[in-house]
Amino acid sequence: MSFTLAIVGRPNVGKSTLFNRLVGRKLALVDDQPGVTRDLREGQGRLGDLRFIVIDSAGLEMAEDDSLQGRMRRLTERAVDEADVVLFVIDARVGVTAADEYFADILRRRARHVILAANKAEGRAGEAGALEAYGLGLGEPLRISAEHGEGLEDIYAVLKPLA
Ligand code: GDP
Ligand code: MG
Repeated sequence: MSFTLAIVGRPNVGKSTLFNRLVGRKLALVDDQPGVTRDLREGQGRLGDLRFIVIDSAGLEMAEDDSLQGRMRRLTERAVDEADVVLFVIDARVGVTAADEYFADILRRRARHVILAANKAEGRAGEAGALEAYGLGLGEPLRISAEHGEGLEDIYAVLKPLA
């Protein structure tokens, strides 16, 4: 069975880097600067023997006249409603922010399945941030590095039974 996985989280946590890794191509722009990508982007994801549709909630990076938070909420809700599984990404190096807590609250109420990933955790970086993420109440944070391809087997292990 195929399923849809939506990657959500505040800007700059590494959503597009993870999207590109799952899709295996650089469909999404990765940038240090906000404002490079638009809306929701879809691709064919693969992880081991799993095949699925992956959505990058790219529009969060857009600077619009309405508030970032309002835009984040609308895009997240759209992605969540279209997805069977939500992959919620935080930046383990930064730790949990107010925006992360705001997202977590939406996801707890709205999403069917949430996988919490603490990204940028290559090496020993982000240990504290990943621990903090337990406090979001979304289960065990998976320590991953989208850039270095680390921790993807843990995502696989959680996805496999849902597929
Ligand atoms: P998005 O705004 O959430 O889509 O984030 P991007 O994928 O555009 O990445 C934002 C920045 O974080 C870029 O400079 C990426 O190179 C960097 N980044 C993404 N994943 C990792 C990671 O696993 N480790 C580190 N150190 N940097 C990362
Ligand atoms: Mg992006």
